[in-house]
Amino acid sequence: MNHFCTLDLRKYANRKANYHTHTVRCQHAGGDDREYIEKAIEAGYEILGFSDHAPFVFENGYVSPVRMKMSELDEYVSSLERLRKEYEKDIKIFIGLEAEYWPKVFDASLKIYQEYPIDYMILGQHYIDDEASEQSVQIASTSETNLKNYVKRVTDAINTGYFMYVAHPDSFHFAGDCSVYDKYMSQLIEECKKYNLPIEINCTGYRKKRVYPNARFMELAAKKECDFIIGIDAHVPDQILDSESVKGCAEMAMQFGGKVL
Ligand SMILES: [Zn+2]
Ligand SMILES: [Zn+2]
Repeated sequence: MNHFCTLDLRKYANRKANYHTHTVRCQHAGGDDREYIEKAIEAGYEILGFSDHAPFVFENGYVSPVRMKMSELDEYVSSLERLRKEYEKDIKIFIGLEAEYWPKVFDASLKIYQEYPIDYMILGQHYIDDEASEQSVQIASTSETNLKNYVKRVTDAINTGYFMYVAHPDSFHFAGDCSVYDKYMSQLIEECKKYNLPIEINCTGYRKKRVYPNARFMELAAKKECDFIIGIDAHVPDQILDSESVKGCAEMAMQFGGKVL
């Protein structure tokens, strides 16, 4: 039997690692699989995890323009298995997925993932319920209901036990009152703490000066003594060499006394 999502990242806590890497299959990333690996070796990484946007079986035949197709999953895994073997002396490679937690389609898709030796999944909740009809959580909103629903969805996802960590948990762009933000985001942080999930500081957000990484969120997480982890979220191989962003992310966490794995 294939093992499924059994990776324990704390086993490698003191090694230079990145678990957030995309591939060309998601339709908004470039380069080939090998180039990501070679850049990671060049940058001195000991561990590289691929976590391309997971395919979903959508109802009513919707085809996503921002993730791999289910028919590509087989080739994604076999390509990475082949490269893992080829580069085993230079770097440890893990095969993962960045998935959304959409209860309507999650279980059916999960059944298919479970046919493959997927080492881990990270949660990337870009939409609360589905990407076809909603606006991204990264678009500014003053809706307390939306923030509450986002946090509920993420905490439910954590509760499934399938996710190794939450990618950019602070990606919800809340433009309303700070006390409301604190109230709900504290619940999310509490849940990460409960399950011992580190808080991702996302390099792509940092580089693109997006709403995340959010300093207030990190301050709240540091206060709760959560650990942090840096996710490059590479969409082109060269981003793996961007040590300036990695450094900037680490400094953000450390300014609040946060510990980076
Ligand atoms: Zn992406
Ligand atoms: Zn990502």
